[in-house]
Order: sequence, then structure tokens, then C-alpha cells
Amino acid sequence: MPLRFLIRVLLGFAVAAGTAFGADATVDIDMTLRLDPAKRTIEGEARLRLPDGKARRLLLAKSARLISLAIDGQSTRRRHRVRGALRSWSLPSEASTLDLIWSMALTPTPTHLDHRETLGRDEATAAELGSFLPAAAHWYPGLQVDGEPALQRWRVTIETPPGQRAIVPGRLVEVRNSETTWTATYRMDVPAEGIDLMAGPYRLSERRMTSIDGRALSLRTLFHPEIEALAGDYLDALAGYFELYEKWIGPYPFDDFTIVSSPTPTGLGMPSLTYLGIEVLKLPFIRHTSLGHEVLHNWWGNGVYPDYTGGNWSEGLTTFMADYHYAEGASADKARAMRLGWLRDLSAIPPGKGLALARFTSRRHGVDAAVGYGKAAMLFYMLRERIGRAAFDDAVRRFWRSHRFKVAGWSALREAFEAASGDQLGEFFAQWVEREGLPRLTLVAAEGGGAELLQDEPVYRLRVPLHVRGGTTRQVLLEPLEAPRHHVERPADSGELLLDPDFQVMRRLAPGEVPPTVRDINLAGPTQLVVLGGDAMDGAAGELARRLLDSEPTTVDGDSPSPDRPLLVVGTPDTVDAWLSRYGLEPRPAQVGRRGELQAWAGRHGATQPLVVISATSPNAAQAAARSLPHLGRFGWIVIEQERSSERGHWPSTPQSIGLRGSEKGAD
Ligand SMILES: [Zn+2]
Repeated sequence: MPLRFLIRVLLGFAVAAGTAFGADATVDIDMTLRLDPAKRTIEGEARLRLPDGKARRLLLAKSARLISLAIDGQSTRRRHRVRGALRSWSLPSEASTLDLIWSMALTPTPTHLDHRETLGRDEATAAELGSFLPAAAHWYPGLQVDGEPALQRWRVTIETPPGQRAIVPGRLVEVRNSETTWTATYRMDVPAEGIDLMAGPYRLSERRMTSIDGRALSLRTLFHPEIEALAGDYLDALAGYFELYEKWIGPYPFDDFTIVSSPTPTGLGMPSLTYLGIEVLKLPFIRHTSLGHEVLHNWWGNGVYPDYTGGNWSEGLTTFMADYHYAEGASADKARAMRLGWLRDLSAIPPGKGLALARFTSRRHGVDAAVGYGKAAMLFYMLRERIGRAAFDDAVRRFWRSHRFKVAGWSALREAFEAASGDQLGEFFAQWVEREGLPRLTLVAAEGGGAELLQDEPVYRLRVPLHVRGGTTRQVLLEPLEAPRHHVERPADSGELLLDPDFQVMRRLAPGEVPPTVRDINLAGPTQLVVLGGDAMDGAAGELARRLLDSEPTTVDGDSPSPDRPLLVVGTPDTVDAWLSRYGLEPRPAQVGRRGELQAWAGRHGATQPLVVISATSPNAAQAAARSLPHLGRFGWIVIEQERSSERGHWPSTPQSIGLRGSEKGAD
């Protein structure tokens, strides 16, 4: 029979408790937990060592059963207050320790959620296939000081039935196995935001590496058995990211990093771990993109905490130094396409509906994501273009050294970039962080062969690249634009002048600069539906429209669609071609021809309204495409063959340009 045995997994270097955190209120939590995923229960005993503070309250979920509470060793039946799903107790000013015993019944783990539904859920759930107890569910006792949640350090021992393993953020210090239980202890020695607990039927894989400052780092995967074979590739990728970011920024602030698989399609980053859905982990590109992004959050977000009252900079800096860095490493075209994608999403936000970066807190809906990720990442791109790569990297290292495990806002970032570059960046940060909306630039021909660069008021201070192309001439002018109008002398006798064709300036793109995509049809209000090809097509077209559109369309007659509203046209190939010519639109593009059973493409009608045309050989083909087409919305054109997309692509963007003989051309 196997004897009870003990493995000391790691006795690594502990980050000195409380370093650099200054006066921020931090509670020390020492807990022992017993989780039974099959019975969906958790029981716990905790001791909290309290920080000073005027108004301190103990917090615990209303659904938890409090078995005992003692303040400084004295058992108490203090009265509590209930708000929503939360119970709280005010604490006497002299109290320094709390001891609690509690238990809680957990909700079954949901098995039919999509990614959007898993974001923002704060329920503690359990099942043998996977349990997730987010800190926001208040499944364990926490503390509020002066109305704000206190940061926490912890030592957590978790016991589960054999076959299950559990993890919380922090350093794994001990694992014990017996016939009846599996037990692990984790420590978080620096202040962190809260304890998320994950458990499942995990298989462990592990790799050791040495950090840049000589510590032993443990990289691990806790994967469900069905994806255990992927562990080696993920550990290779992890090692690469740690090498990259330690060199670029500074030492990894923790001692462990674990990728934990989830039965739900989730994607979360926490200090020292990331929690990703099994189906997500199976996608081959995840280890080249999202994984690096989550690793980098240990520096930005979980290593330096954003000051949410002044705007969350951590998603933008992480997107720039992860997603964008990888695109740049792949090719200049990929990097350009990513910048275009950010500007395209920002340009889709109607004027006046935008959000200043100073008001971005977290990912909620489309506008927030476009601003918090795209606008902030574009800010860092322009900043690096302005001060140069060496100063940028120096600033990032300074910022990390002086704000590790502290709360820092945009102003702390500005100071680091100013110190590293010697530039005054107050105006740069103010216009991109505080202002909502974007500059709108227009290039027009001027008398005498030069050009005028125009911007709407109130103006931004910009440096705008103008490309000169033609014959053998290829040069880039960097024009300072600080007024509504700026004159550009004719730089060559012939050729073309193009406005920022590589998307290097944060701005609202003109309609011609944004290549149309199928999903644009959802951005401009209610859609008109035109069905061609007889009654048989009606049902299939309706089904297709419901899947493709965010809101119910209005069916209109093919002869009289309004030029001021988005338009979806569904029909058979012959009826579609006849309609396009009757309505005076471009014929079907050569990219799709009549290939496959269905062709879909995006364009524009009226002056600027989105148009999507779907040409299907039969109602059945249209019906079948209703499943795949909604997932392909980022493309400009798509061919569906045997219910799957066989070909797809993007339309090119057309930059604003003028001819250099003085005649205007192609500007819109
Ligand atoms: Zn992120």
C-alpha cells in the first residue's frame, strides 16, 4: 500500500513580504480549505491579520454559512449587514486578528457558456470536471478598509479528494498525497488583489528555469487528461516568453507560473497563472499570441497595478508589448494590419460616443475594448516612434523598477518616459489619455501644386507622415500639424502624395481608408434586408440575417432601399447580379466569382453605408452558411463550399492621396 508521503516541491526565493508597498492597506490571510467538487462544498478556517484603518469591515458571501467568528481570540456574535449577495461586519478599531470557520455550497459548473458569458461571472462553481471560485464571489473572508477592498497576502492550504488538484495564485510550497486526500500549500508574499481558486482532474507537467536574477523558476501546466499531450509545447512557449520579458523589463516578480485548463471557454490572467479553456488551449495559435499576453500581465496588471480611478493603462501596454510585438516580429505587413485594425475599430465608434482612455477600467463592450486595448496600444506605438526604441525600453525598465507591486497611473508612466527620453510629454499624454474622440485628417490639393493638410477643431498636435511616390521618387515627409490647416510645399514634380498610408497616426479614418468587412453592417444602426430569388429564399434569408445581425432587420423592396441605412442583400446568383446592375453598384467581385455554393462580400452603398451581398445557389446553401458566416465577419469577402469557408480575404485600403501636378485624385 502506498504510504503517506511528502514532496517538498520548491523552497525557492521568497519576495520579502511587504516590499515597496508602503502605506497601502494589506490583510494577511492564513487559511485551510477542504474542497469537495463532487458534493460541491467548500469548508474553511481562516485567520486574518488586520492592517490599521479607520473603517474596517469583514466581508463574506451571504450564501456562506458562518460557523464561528472570533475577534482577537474572543468568540463573538456580532451583527452583520447585508447588501446584495454580500454580508459584512464592522470591526472594532482595536481589533488585530480575526478567526473564522465557515462553509459554503457551490453552484454546479456551467457547461454551456460561450466566452462572452463567462466574462464577468462572479459565482463560485464546482464539479469534478472543474471548479472555479473567483475572488469576486467572496467565497472566503476578505476585508474592506475605508470603503476600498484591502489588498491581500496569503498562505492557503487546500485539501481535495484524490484525483483532484487545486491551485490559487502564488508560490507552491508544499504538496502532500495520501490515500484519501491531495493537499497543497501556496503562498503569496506580495500584496495582490484576491484569491481565485481553481480545481480539476489535473495532470501536472513541470519545467525548471533560472530567472535573470538567478532564482529557480517553476513553469507548470495543470491540464485535463485529454490535453495532457500539449503540455510540452506550452512549456517550451512559456520558457521563451519568460526569457523575452525578463530581458526586456526586469525579473519576473513571482517564482512559479502555471497554465491551468478550464472546462468553460474562459481566458483569465492572475498573478503567477493563467486559466484558459480546454477548447481554447487546443487552438494552435494560442501559444503564439494569448499566452504571451497573459504572461506579460504578471508585469503589467499583476506586477504594477493600474490606478483604476485615472484609467487602466495595463491592457494597452500589454497589447503593445505582446500582441503587437509578435506581429512586428512576423512582418511589417502584419504590424501594419494590426494598426489598421485598431484604427478601424476606433473609427467605427460614432463621434461623441467615444471614451477617453482615462475612463477605461476593464473590458465590458466593444467601445471599451477598442479604446482600452487599441487606442492605448496605438499611444505606445506613437510614443516609441517619437522617442525611439532605446528610450522606450529604458522607460519601461524604470517604470517597472520604481512601481513594482504598487498602484500606478498614467502620470507615473509619463514621468518614466520623460526621464528616459528627456522630452516633455505632458501634452502628448494629455491629448491621447484625457480627450475622447480622435483627430480627423484630410489631404487636399493646393494651388501651385502643393497640398493642404486639414484637421477638425479642436486641434491635436501631430506629426503626420506623408509619402511621396512616383517614378523613382520614394520619400517620407514628417509634417508637424498644430493648427486646423498646414501647407505642404510640392515635394516633387510628378507622382502622388499619400496621407499616412501605413497607419502611424491615431486618427479617425476616412471611409475610403477603411476596407469594408462583413461585420460593419452591425455598426451603423438598423439594417434593411432585401431578399431576391422568390419565396423559397425568404426563410433561409431570414435565418441568415438573424445570425449575422445584432438586431432584427426590416425587410424592404429591392427597388427602393434607403441609401442612408445599412443593407443586406440575399439572393440567388442570377437575381443578385441583375439587382447589382439595376441598382448601379459594382458587379460581383472577381475574388468570389461564382465559386462554391455561396459567396458573400462587403461593400458600400449610398455615400458611406455598409452593404453585404450574399449570393447562394439555393435556399439550403444559404441556410447552411448561417452557422459559419457569423464567425467570418472580419473578412471582406468569403466563399463557402460544403458548408465551410474555402476562400476568404480582406479588401485593400485606399489611402487619401493627391496627384502632384496639382489635380486632386482619389481623396475621400
Ligand atoms: Zn489583457
